Amino acid sequence: MEEASPTQSIENFEIIRPLGRGGYSDVFHVKSIETNEEFALKVIKRNKPAQALNRVKNEISIQMKLEHPNIVKLHTSFEDSSFIYLLLEYCSGGELHSYIKQKERLSESETRRLCKQIINGIDLLHSKGIFHRDLKLGNVLLNKNKTIAKIGDFGLAIEIEGDDEMRRTICGTPNYISPEAASRKPYGLASDIWAFGCIVYACLVGKPPFDCPEVKQTLNKVKNLDYSIPDYLSQNAKDLIAQLLSPDPWKRLSTSQIMSHPFFNNNSIPKLQIKTDYCNRDYYEGDTSPLIKTGKARTGTDTKNGSRASIAHSTRTTQSSEGENMPLKYDQSQQVRRSLQLESIQPLSLYNLDPFVHTLNNGYIEITNQGSIKVYIAKRLLEVSSDGQVIFYQGKRYTLKTMPRSAQKLYLYASNCVDVIRKHSVQNSFDSQYI
Ligand code: ATP
Repeated sequence: MEEASPTQSIENFEIIRPLGRGGYSDVFHVKSIETNEEFALKVIKRNKPAQALNRVKNEISIQMKLEHPNIVKLHTSFEDSSFIYLLLEYCSGGELHSYIKQKERLSESETRRLCKQIINGIDLLHSKGIFHRDLKLGNVLLNKNKTIAKIGDFGLAIEIEGDDEMRRTICGTPNYISPEAASRKPYGLASDIWAFGCIVYACLVGKPPFDCPEVKQTLNKVKNLDYSIPDYLSQNAKDLIAQLLSPDPWKRLSTSQIMSHPFFNNNSIPKLQIKTDYCNRDYYEGDTSPLIKTGKARTGTDTKNGSRASIAHSTRTTQSSEGENMPLKYDQSQQVRRSLQLESIQPLSLYNLDPFVHTLNNGYIEITNQGSIKVYIAKRLLEVSSDGQVIFYQGKRYTLKTMPRSAQKLYLYASNCVDVIRKHSVQNSFDSQYI
């Protein structure tokens, strides 16, 4: 296959244990003998029918292009005379399906936290014209702490030309299939939104809305929109589900509408807002303050202590006439401070921080499972090792001393984020995935 890596081979990995078996593959937890890094290795026999091999080729070509904290990363693929191998990011928390089974159902706040990430992943796919076609609880994988959700299994995914391009081949899993696909009508990206609706429902209720022992029965229920929403769900949750499971695909919410739906914007949780005007020139050049601040006011609920508390934060702000916190304007003293700071950057340390993802309007910040921090803003990616000494910027490796100025700014940003995460124990005190 054209994407296969010539430099990897199965000899480079130690198999730790089998993770599971799919319809056409076996997946193993493996460790690189050279680096000790852990991965999931998907192994496919080559003696499969051409259709199955095409599916693998398609999966590789699509997943290889995707880089997002809520999408399982495909690092590389390689092959030998008997097998094709896909080297994937290892998601040690297993499938969302098993997690829900174990907990029976999730609370609204946990559903909000995980589903917000799933919709962020879907948003990226749809923005690139990628139609997943098999979104379900079993294809959402979790990190060890079950706080980060990642979309996986791109075996049925396809690239489409425009938002309204339609497909006819019936595929996917009956429990998550949209009424238009079940009725063999043309279907498009809105079918992924339907499947997302089934996922939200399944998180909150414990099983998908049209779940039946018989496939035919399930499909009939889907076509007749035969499902019920339990009374114990909040009005926001009920409304979101109803709008996602609209029988008319054109009436289903878009990814951006979903993200701004009240279910995902529950004001009882303090908002952690990471300034997204980072790339605004005034701010970018002049402001050296930490870039995370609390919501409009300086107060928020300290969920640890269960009380309304003033959250001290070191973001330099000024009060506007409406009393809102505003970033200070650029001035010369800041410029001087900025240049001094750039010359004496201290290495950041990610010691003892759990994986963390926060999505921005134009990118994201991620503390990865491997303990590095990634900052992706306005199409620029900086990754810093856990000790702060090794820096990858736009695909090149640097040290603290050799990194270019534009990387230094992102480095400072990352460093400030780490400080604020530590200071406010973001991961423990708040719903840190709340975006
Ligand atoms: P399907 O027939 O559902 O399309 P498949 O052959 O594509 O299956 P997967 O469903 O992707 O295979 O994976 C099979 C098993 O391996 C699943 O139980 C899944 O949880 C596990 N698995 C797959 N990828 C990973 C990963 N990156 N990290 C951890 N476990 C994984």
